[in-house]
Amino acid sequence: MRLFDPHIHMTSRTTDDYEAMYAAGVRAVVEPSFWLGQPRTSPASFLDYFDSLLGWEPFRAAQHGIAHHCTLALNPKEANDPRCVPVLDELPRYLVKDQVVAVGEIGYDSMTPAEDTALATQLQLAAAHELPALVHTPHRDKLAGLRRTLDVVRESALPADHVLVDHLNETTVKEAKDSGCWLGFSVYPDTKMDEERMVAILREYGPEQVLVNSAADWGRSDPLKTRKVADLMLAEGFDEDDVDRVLWRNPVAFYGLSGRLDLDVAAPDATHEGNSILRGAPKDLDEGPGRAPGQGDAPVAPAPGA
Ligand SMILES: [Zn+2]
Repeated sequence: MRLFDPHIHMTSRTTDDYEAMYAAGVRAVVEPSFWLGQPRTSPASFLDYFDSLLGWEPFRAAQHGIAHHCTLALNPKEANDPRCVPVLDELPRYLVKDQVVAVGEIGYDSMTPAEDTALATQLQLAAAHELPALVHTPHRDKLAGLRRTLDVVRESALPADHVLVDHLNETTVKEAKDSGCWLGFSVYPDTKMDEERMVAILREYGPEQVLVNSAADWGRSDPLKTRKVADLMLAEGFDEDDVDRVLWRNPVAFYGLSGRLDLDVAAPDATHEGNSILRGAPKDLDEGPGRAPGQGDAPVAPAPGA
């Protein structure tokens, strides 16, 4: 079984998670830029974060056989902070980079005028860069939030079939489907969607244009939810082709709209900008001829934060 998690915040996850995801069948992820918890105070800290999503995190994913792409944007929450908004002027030079497969996550948090502006501006940026957009829908007032989101999408230059509306549930799925947008569902351990409800929605609405993600971040979340949904689909009578469609081909088709999706995981580089993840030479490769290039030949630069 091959799995693609189309929305997961690996920045907040551990090496154990990468290993468990690979063992469960995850071979590709898309990591949307998001709110990091600690409020940012200037565009510069966004740019370091964007560089990390383009450099360090794909390097880390490749160590575990997982292809990593990202979506970049000013997130809805920080769109309300005037210190952060100037990052919108920096985005165009990032949106041309090979590993950026969409603008996102954009959308509404509290549905403020500042969020209106950031959403419309970034949908326009997506259209101008011929990229799809990943649009977060709010967790409060879900249906009102979805309707307002779809209104802004309709007024934008971006066609609905280039938009993925995410965090849907039973309340919002029908109107989202009628809009022609792609449909994203985040499956969590104890809030929002769970596996059973997800499979019920798939039964009612079908697998067309449906993407399922774990949205795993620092909150209570589970990076193996894609696999758990796949297993329950099979147990509930869906066939392997349905599973492959929802958990592989649909995300490949959506992010493939960017023309930039490259799912071959190249042999991982030994270091990223001179830094490895290893603390010293690997134990079993210490002196042997089979040691990884660049490891053990010279003092290994400490990993950042080490
Ligand atoms: Zn997210």
